[in-house]
Amino acid sequence: VTAAVLSGMELAAQLRESVSARIAALPVGAPRPVLAVVTATTDEASTWYVRSIASAAAKAGVICTVIDLGQDATPDVISATLSDLSAAQTVSGIIAATPLPGDGKLADYGHLIDPAKDVDGANPLSLGRLAAGLRAFAPATAEAVVRLLEYYQVDLAGRHAVIVGRSTVVGKPAVHLLLDRNATVTVCHSRTRYLPAITRTADVLVAAAGCSGLLTADHIRPGAVIIDVGTNSSPDGGIVGDVDPLAAEVAGAISPVPGGVGPVTTALLLQHVLTAATVSARPLPL
Ligand code: NAP
Repeated sequence: VTAAVLSGMELAAQLRESVSARIAALPVGAPRPVLAVVTATTDEASTWYVRSIASAAAKAGVICTVIDLGQDATPDVISATLSDLSAAQTVSGIIAATPLPGDGKLADYGHLIDPAKDVDGANPLSLGRLAAGLRAFAPATAEAVVRLLEYYQVDLAGRHAVIVGRSTVVGKPAVHLLLDRNATVTVCHSRTRYLPAITRTADVLVAAAGCSGLLTADHIRPGAVIIDVGTNSSPDGGIVGDVDPLAAEVAGAISPVPGGVGPVTTALLLQHVLTAATVSARPLPL
């Protein structure tokens, strides 16, 4: 038995088409949604990701401005740039690409992004609002997990969802999004004991550890649905997820890497920018 493939390509295409149709329907002369992407790295994967966002944005009619501060950018320069963009009337959405220079973490800067423009849920206020059940932009990757599950009509109510990974960009927001859909949620991390015993109880398993091959057939309950968020470099220069390919012989369905969560994430970012640009649809102001 081989697992069904939960491709993200069709859903991503639908989301992009809906964004472009809504932008095309904006009144003549109305401002277009503008996404500002702040980057300060030469990291290859990050550069590729920023390029793919810019290209998807251009196709959908979202204006994307990449502000490359260079890998030597100081914390002051990064902070000032994010604050200026937050204040700029012309900017609808803001993303800070990672990694950031030195030991800089997104969490150090997220609070500088106006929550109304925080299209990738980097501001702790966004995560807090999500946890409180209030409207907020969820990190696009975490939202892509549940959107993919919904697209394939995976029943979540009362099911056991196990998330491997507790980062603020994937694992933690995914907890709230899954809880909101009435799943029973367990979160695992690097200190979790008996990981395979826990993951084997999952009806839905979300792999977001960033470790290729971490989850093997031994970790999977027969028939489980797996969403593989991991994007790890493979020796042949491609990318692979966190789930060992042999797990497909046990799982009921699995999202591929690449072509699963990734394209949905990018499409959702564009949708968030459009939402942020449409003042009446803003989830905030605070
Ligand atoms: P992260 O910040 O490094 O977090 C990884 C999490 O996995 C941590 O909570 C860590 O536990 C846990 N973990 C690591 N090794 C583990 C192990 N052996 N057993 C159990 N748990 C383990 O990474 P992230 O930013 O959340 O990203 C996770 C993965 O998703 C990466 O591969 C990343 O590239 C990918 N990603 C994909 C997209 C997309 O659009 N497709 C977007 C974002 C991220 P501790 O907390 O204990 O350290």
